[in-house]
Amino acid sequence: MDSHILVTRSSMPPLEEYVAEIAPLWESHWLTNMGEKHKEFERLLKEYLGANNVALFVNGHNALECAIEALGLGADGRRKVITTPFTFASTTHAIVRKGLEPVFADVRESDYTIDPEQVARLAADPEVCAVLPVHVYGNLCDVDAIQSIADERGLKVLYDAAHAFGVERRRPDGSWESAASFGDASMFSFHATKVFNTVEGGAVCFRDPALKPVLDQWKNFGITGPEDVEYVGGNAKMNELCAAMGICNLRHLDEEIAKRRMVAARYCEQLEGVRGLHLSPLHEGVRSNFAYMPILFEGEAPAERDAAMAALAETGIGSRKYFYPLTSEFACYAGRFDSSMTPVALRLSRQVLCLPMYADLALEDVDRICRIVAGSRGRS
Ligand SMILES: *Cc1c(COP(=O)(O)O)cnc(C)c1O
Repeated sequence: MDSHILVTRSSMPPLEEYVAEIAPLWESHWLTNMGEKHKEFERLLKEYLGANNVALFVNGHNALECAIEALGLGADGRRKVITTPFTFASTTHAIVRKGLEPVFADVRESDYTIDPEQVARLAADPEVCAVLPVHVYGNLCDVDAIQSIADERGLKVLYDAAHAFGVERRRPDGSWESAASFGDASMFSFHATKVFNTVEGGAVCFRDPALKPVLDQWKNFGITGPEDVEYVGGNAKMNELCAAMGICNLRHLDEEIAKRRMVAARYCEQLEGVRGLHLSPLHEGVRSNFAYMPILFEGEAPAERDAAMAALAETGIGSRKYFYPLTSEFACYAGRFDSSMTPVALRLSRQVLCLPMYADLALEDVDRICRIVAGSRGRS
């Protein structure tokens, strides 16, 4: 028996279901450029997310870059964007690749998301045009505090919601709103490793309906008419086979999240109370998607975390230092940022380890992983 466990495993629909979904493409021979599957998937996403405005993309990163373009960040000469270094390369790279300057705010100890007090302080700089926060591991940012700072200062808010597909927050009236509801726009990633995947893919949900043609043109070379090209756009379209994968996977998503919830509950049951370990608390009134299973090892040095990772690897179990290093520490940014300015993010990046998490992870395997993690701490 193969006892290897990877840190994640892509959700896939039953093969027959996918084959049935793509069969019409063998009739139409229409494989990309906003075909029937693209239209259908966009409509289903709007419904699922309760979003009025959605544009599909080839992946989350290109979606983020196109959203930056479509929102016109930097166009008025203000070129700084407040963001977090406790994220995947994509967030910081998108800002830099669009010729803007990231300004790093620290994150909150409690949920790893950007600290609104720091956002407020950094927003006093008149060169700042936007905030680009990240809903880390599916924990929602303090969206209300961030929005009021943005309103006060005339800043755009663009969320990296790559981790937050399927996350919902309860409104005061008891109804639920999805992670697509916040800020001027939110980017979702449908990469194979995410809770919901289209193999590769992504989407932008946005407030202003006037952005729809703009986003759709940015992803298609800036073409605005048969003989008109108005923007220096790239190619970031989602193809029909990926859209079909999305249509199928969306049918099973609630079930997948329910299974992830049980895996997460088992982890918590087994790891709660282990000396020197911290689990991330769930927010009151938020329905999580259980995208990741992060645990924190107490202490400043990464030795404890690294020992647990090595102990897991010895028995063929994958885990991931996610996010480590901070994006502000990347070699490509050497000499440009000072990671000691975000001490909480810096410490968390040395303490965090993401354990295997996927819908079909067996609970006995969770128990085994927990025994190894606890054992690596000199307790079994
Ligand atoms: C996955 C991810 C992205 C990029 O999405 P892709 O679809 O892989 O391009 C961006 N930000 C975060 C936080 C991510 O986890």
